[in-house]
Amino acid sequence: MRLGLHVSIAGRLTQAFKEGLESKSEALQIFSTSPRMWRSSVVSDQEAENFRSERGDFYPLVVHASYLINLGSKNEEVRKKSVHALKEEVERSKKLGADYLVLHPGGGHQNATAFIGESLSEILDYADGLRILLENVAGEGTKIGKNFYELQEIIKRTANGKRLGICFDTCHAFAAGYDLRKKETWQELQKEIEETVGLEQVVLLHLNDCKGELGSRLDRHANWQDGYLGKVTIENLRENSFFSTLPGILETPGDLQQRTQDLQLCREWLGLDG
Ligand SMILES: [Zn+2]
Ligand SMILES: [Zn+2]
Repeated sequence: MRLGLHVSIAGRLTQAFKEGLESKSEALQIFSTSPRMWRSSVVSDQEAENFRSERGDFYPLVVHASYLINLGSKNEEVRKKSVHALKEEVERSKKLGADYLVLHPGGGHQNATAFIGESLSEILDYADGLRILLENVAGEGTKIGKNFYELQEIIKRTANGKRLGICFDTCHAFAAGYDLRKKETWQELQKEIEETVGLEQVVLLHLNDCKGELGSRLDRHANWQDGYLGKVTIENLRENSFFSTLPGILETPGDLQQRTQDLQLCREWLGLDG
C-alpha cells in the first residue's frame, strides 16, 4: 500500500513536496486553492511546470476540491458557482498532472442526485485523463453519499459515470454507521461495493480516525490514537484482500510532526515498516 499525507501548499505549490519528503509520504494530497473561498487561485504555466518537474515519485497525486462546491444545492446560483468552480479545479488538477480529484458530492434537495449527475456529465467532458473521485460522506444533514448505494445512484445519473471513481474515507464511513472495528464490516462493505459501483471503481482510501461515535454523522477527523477507530480498524483493513491493495491518504489534524506520527502508526499496523 502506498500511503501519504494531505499536505499544505502554504502559498507555494512545491511546498507540498517538501512536506511529502519530510513525512516520508509516498502518495500525496493537496488543495490547489483555498478550500473555503469561492475565488480560486490561478496556477501559472511556470508554477505548473515547476510542480510537475519537482514531483519525483509521489503517486498517486491527489487534489481535494473546495468544500464550498455543492453540485446538488437547491440554490441555483450556488449550483452554477459550483459547476464553474469544479471546472477550474479540473483545469488546475490537469495542469499539475494530478491523478485524482476528490469531491464531496453535495446535497440539500430532493432532486440533488439528479442535479449532481447532470453537472458531473458536463464536467467529465473536461476531465480527459484526470479521474474525478466521489467521496463517501458522514451523512450530515441531507448530503448524498453516505453509502455505496447513494454513490451508485449518482454514477447512474452521470453520462459516462463509469469514468468516475470512488474515494473511501474511514472516518466518514464510521460516522455514517459502518463499524469498521469489526472484521465482518469490511467484508460486508466489499460486498456492498460489488453489488453497486463495482470494485474497479474504488481506487483510493482516506485513512482517518474519528472523533465522533459510531453513527454520529459528524465529519470530525481524529489522530490515530485519539479516536474511536484505532489500531483494530487498520488491522482489519490489512486482512481484507481488496481494501489492502489501495493507496491511502491521511487527513488527520495537527502539525506535520503529529500527522507524520499518524502515518508511521498506520504503516506499522499495516505491516509496511522496513
Ligand atoms: Zn476524506
Ligand atoms: Zn472528512
